[in-house]
Parts: sequence; structure tokens; C-alpha cells
Amino acid sequence: MAKIRVNKQFTFDMAHALYNHNGACRNIHGHTYTLTVTLLGEVKTNPGKSDDGMLVDFSWLKELVKTEIISVYDHALVLNGNSPHRDLKLDRSFDKVIYLDVQPTCENLLLIMVRKLKSDLPPDLTLQYVSLQETPTAKAEWCFDDNF
Ligand SMILES: [Zn+2]
Repeated sequence: MAKIRVNKQFTFDMAHALYNHNGACRNIHGHTYTLTVTLLGEVKTNPGKSDDGMLVDFSWLKELVKTEIISVYDHALVLNGNSPHRDLKLDRSFDKVIYLDVQPTCENLLLIMVRKLKSDLPPDLTLQYVSLQETPTAKAEWCFDDNF
């Protein structure tokens, strides 16, 4: 059976600040991120079933990403929890302040999202590629083939 890839894009708005960064990104600012999730697998042959002819039901993927990623990060402020930013106690004033154990760069956010997605996929689907676009000209990419 031939394997194919399907992908779906998602967008969310998020603010962050990079502690100690030697540039403008040390200030709190926001981006509209585009997350692209690509899955690899075989097309199901289930005549009469809802998923007949599909690798995966796009609505299932949409719900997974929405629940595990978008609802967490959309309109959140994400900061490095191992920095003095935690002392600002912004979570007392805002509902969605997330402190990561790492710098909240596009690259680290991508790796966190990849780990989450990998843990939630059924065994017949392979997470093949994930990209997180931070600006119209900058994105981070994770590819299964680079991570054997
Ligand atoms: Zn930024």
C-alpha cells in the first residue's frame, strides 16, 4: 500500500519575550503564528465507514491540534520560567501566561508542539513534518527524517 502525506494549517496569536536576547525580541511582542502539521500513513479502505478513503479525518486532526496546542497558546503570553520574568507575576493580571522551562523561541515552541503531537497520534500515523511560521519570512521546521 502506498504511503501518502496530508497536512493541515492552523493559526494562532501569541505574545512572548526572549529574556536576555540581544535585540528587540527581548521586549514583549506578538506574532500570528502558522502551524503546519503533516502526517504520513496509508489511505484507509473501509467501505461504508466514515473514514473510508482517508489517511485521517481532517476534523479529527483539527480537534487534536485545537485542544492540545491552539487552545493553550492562542492569545497567551509565553515567557521563560527560568528567568526574572517569572518574578513579574504577570499571571496575577492575565489569564493566559505560560512559563516554559526554555526560552520561548519559535524553535523551542516547535519542539514542544512536536512532542505533544507525537504523544497523541495513533500508531498507524507518523508525524512527518511540522513547521511553525513566526513571521512572513521566518519559520522553524521539524522533519521526521532528520530525527531518526
Ligand atoms: Zn517574537
